[in-house]
Amino acid sequence: MRADLILKNALLADGTHADVTVSNGVIASMAPTTAVSNGSTTSPVYDADGALLLPGLVDGHVHLDKTLIGLPFIPHIPGGTVASRIEAEKSLRRSLPMTVEERGGRLIEQLSAQGTVAVRSHVDIDTEIGLKGLEALLSLKAKYSACMDIQIVAFPQSGILRDPGTADLLDAAMSAGADLVGGLDPAGIDGDVSGHLDIVFGVAAKHGAGVDLHLHDGGALGAFELRQIAERTLALGLAGQVAVSHAFCLGALDDFDFARTAKLLARAEISIMTTAPGPVPMPPVKRLLTAGVQVFSGSDNIRDAWSPFGNGDLLERAGIVCDRQDFRSDEDLELAFSLVTEAPSRVVGLGSGRLEPGAPADFILIRSGSVAEAVAARPKSRTVFKRGVLVDHPRLA
Ligand SMILES: [Zn+2]
Repeated sequence: MRADLILKNALLADGTHADVTVSNGVIASMAPTTAVSNGSTTSPVYDADGALLLPGLVDGHVHLDKTLIGLPFIPHIPGGTVASRIEAEKSLRRSLPMTVEERGGRLIEQLSAQGTVAVRSHVDIDTEIGLKGLEALLSLKAKYSACMDIQIVAFPQSGILRDPGTADLLDAAMSAGADLVGGLDPAGIDGDVSGHLDIVFGVAAKHGAGVDLHLHDGGALGAFELRQIAERTLALGLAGQVAVSHAFCLGALDDFDFARTAKLLARAEISIMTTAPGPVPMPPVKRLLTAGVQVFSGSDNIRDAWSPFGNGDLLERAGIVCDRQDFRSDEDLELAFSLVTEAPSRVVGLGSGRLEPGAPADFILIRSGSVAEAVAARPKSRTVFKRGVLVDHPRLA
């Protein structure tokens, strides 16, 4: 049978070399290099020349609508609170000379060139911008479908109760094509945990959709909100469809509060997204995994009003996780790598995120001797395949 692609002589994570056959965008077979290389195939062949083959990277948390990539550098506007940053961003947003389609498109190309094959992107939904950001992301999702799977969260960045009309807009966003309902600090932003969660979970239940909430609220308050989220998840039968992003509180709880909160998160199959942020507590990765809570990672802000930093490189992100968690052994670096591959792949519904027959042929080739070396050295040059097709972005060449 003629394959769409035969990738020859790729180094696998276990140290062996394999030829990978792709048919219909899916990995059809992986076999030791020596067993297949007879030179008589009529299928297109790509010689990996011993480069390390890794699964495509999955970014569990970006904001494609917020990035300022493509514009001249805009100095960061300091803001002491989440609320003041929200207002600073809205003010900046009104005067940007590039559209969301242009800026988001450039970011997608940058992410793709670095080996990212799928993202979960939040998009601002508020009474000023309405559904315009969502419409732009839906257009980007269609335009870049050959190189990037894009899952969209309708995100009430300005709050829900403090911005009357947003609840209806979230409902409309779900009808218009958003995949999940977002939320933001039920206590810290809206000052009403039950009121905020009633709306978020109400819209999710109505549309049969999952939920991904931003939770910056710290300490015991944040942990209380996490347990409320878990209770509602269980009550609505949404186990496995809910994620909480940031959840800084998990990094600052006493043993009793951590244990009871993690136990409930595990029961409700809630996944925790962490960027391994610098100045605040972060969820303890190994403790959560031991408690049965899935953890994944993502870039969050990439050169936007919230941060002048970020490049979307998920190997770098895995390295940042290692830094913050004091991960140093090869086994630890491989664990961090799984937070930008297997874990987010499961969260966004793309399967195991592993290279195996039957999996999407989304992979990258990189000059490294092992997964741990790839995380530590993170070579810039990456050859990316999406559904077995070589990805090329001429604008970045
Ligand atoms: Zn975010």
